[in-house]
Amino acid sequence: MADYLISDGPTPLPQDGCPASQLFNGGDGLTYNDFLILPGYIDFTADEVDLTCALTKNVTLKAPIVSSPMDTVTESGMAIAMALCGGIGIIHHNCTGEFQANEVKKVKKYEQGFIVDPVVMGPKHTVKDVFQAKSKHGFCGIPITETGALGSKLLGIITARDIDFLPQEKYDLPLHAVMTKREELVVARANVTLKEANNLLQTAKKGKLPIVNDKDELVSLISRTDLKKHRDYPLASKDASKQLLVGAAIGTREDDKDRLELLVQAGVDVVVLDSSQGNSVYQVNMIRYIKRNHPELQVIAGNVVTAGQAKNLIDAGADALRVGMGSGSICITQEVVVKPSPKSAKRKKKDGEGEHTSTFMAVGRPQGTAVYKVAEYARHFGVPVIADGGITTVGHITKCLALGASAGMMGSLLAGTTEAPGEYFFSDGVRLKKYRGMGSLDAMEKNKASASRYFSEHDKLKVAQGVSGSIVDKGSVHKFVPYLIAGIQHGCQDIGARSLTELREKMYSGEVRFEKRTPSAQMEGSVHSLHSYEKRLF
Ligand code: GDP
Ligand code: 5GP
Repeated sequence: MADYLISDGPTPLPQDGCPASQLFNGGDGLTYNDFLILPGYIDFTADEVDLTCALTKNVTLKAPIVSSPMDTVTESGMAIAMALCGGIGIIHHNCTGEFQANEVKKVKKYEQGFIVDPVVMGPKHTVKDVFQAKSKHGFCGIPITETGALGSKLLGIITARDIDFLPQEKYDLPLHAVMTKREELVVARANVTLKEANNLLQTAKKGKLPIVNDKDELVSLISRTDLKKHRDYPLASKDASKQLLVGAAIGTREDDKDRLELLVQAGVDVVVLDSSQGNSVYQVNMIRYIKRNHPELQVIAGNVVTAGQAKNLIDAGADALRVGMGSGSICITQEVVVKPSPKSAKRKKKDGEGEHTSTFMAVGRPQGTAVYKVAEYARHFGVPVIADGGITTVGHITKCLALGASAGMMGSLLAGTTEAPGEYFFSDGVRLKKYRGMGSLDAMEKNKASASRYFSEHDKLKVAQGVSGSIVDKGSVHKFVPYLIAGIQHGCQDIGARSLTELREKMYSGEVRFEKRTPSAQMEGSVHSLHSYEKRLF
């Protein structure tokens, strides 16, 4: 018998780690990096893990991911991609109500394969304009209409074949002189199905199929390249009439009621009341107003970080809560820069570079504790919780779900993707997109909606609660989100949970065990001891 065998009787299994209740009731505020989840038993594959989750009381998603209502993150392009991949996008409100409602409409009108918002030109545009559009957007199949806009009479189309061999001295020619004219075009009527469109393009051997209504006005465009790469989206988030789901953010002022009406008419499924501190009489009144006037519309209230804040919003009728204060990557709410000298304010800051700061707002909560505490309270009322901000890796999403959140809301993680608003630019040879806090002076100067999230109308001096910066190109959401989904499934598999419901049940029963990690354990957990390395995630 080996001498390390100290007893031959039954050995009770020691309790490892601790339940979430113990970890988060110790008085310290913890963030995602401060703890780990201990592994469980695996008897299923990762792709069997079911990520179905409740976004609100009445809206279910197949993937627990939400894009943040920020003007450098979510407009219609992001919202469409998020919904196709199983999540949802919340359109920002740093714009007019009309613009925002139109973005919602684009998502609700979206049909795979149809370009519902194509670049269109008029007959007086020139060949030069087409080349400029090509270098900006990457394509040059451009329909020509009477007014140069969608919804106007179709006159012809410009394709690469019309302009490729034109000598430079002809670049000032108007498009009506070089376009393929309406009589020669193969077009389809507005009610055409994708299959019929496919057949039409195949038999006509054309690259573009303009779609027109009864008055011969252009309503959309189909491109042969898209039909070739036709993809299936089995997780797509859809309403009862098979249209993609979309959310939109609003404020809590009187004129937000007009914005709300426009959004409802556009078909919005969920509204997010966008406040950094949501526990206010304004938000309570707005929830009641919406519930009275649009009982079917789902309302996500917040932001909150304590059960006390959550109570008022739940009592008022909130269908979900958004949790987080001061944890966003662009956020300086917990710590605000005090009067930087004009010189230092202009200079670009690098990651981690020190600045003269003071705890201006002094208010907020580390995100791990905030999510656990609010979710623990809200579950007694069947109100789902969305963990908003501070998610910088896929592991953070798994962690917020393991603390009771139904879904994670992301800004920086999704900024820099092809579908995020804004053009790419190069700096020091790196391809970047802009990403800025909605409480940055930059964003607040664009529209008053952003300012209203962080200030009252009467504030005389605006102090930034966010920064404006840039973020590296992350490629398309259509590749990035499937990577996130696979990562969450692997996390759940390691924990031994077959679904998010099971994950939560096992967390509250104490079966899922947690452990705090020291700063040196955190260092150990990241790549170390290498001279250099390449980090490719998928
Ligand atoms: P083109 O022949 O130069 O127009 O380019 P392709 O048809 O090969 O590729 C165009 C790609 O850009 C397709 O995937 C389209 O869905 C996409 N796209 C997005 N917006 C537009 C648009 O406004 N017009 C066109 N022509 N394509 C668009
Ligand atoms: P991220 O995913 O980048 O860490 O955080 C995004 C979240 O930060 C947003 O959903 C929003 O709640 C919050 N946020 C956005 N802009 C600002 C800002 O300027 N200041 C603060 N305090 N929070 C912001």
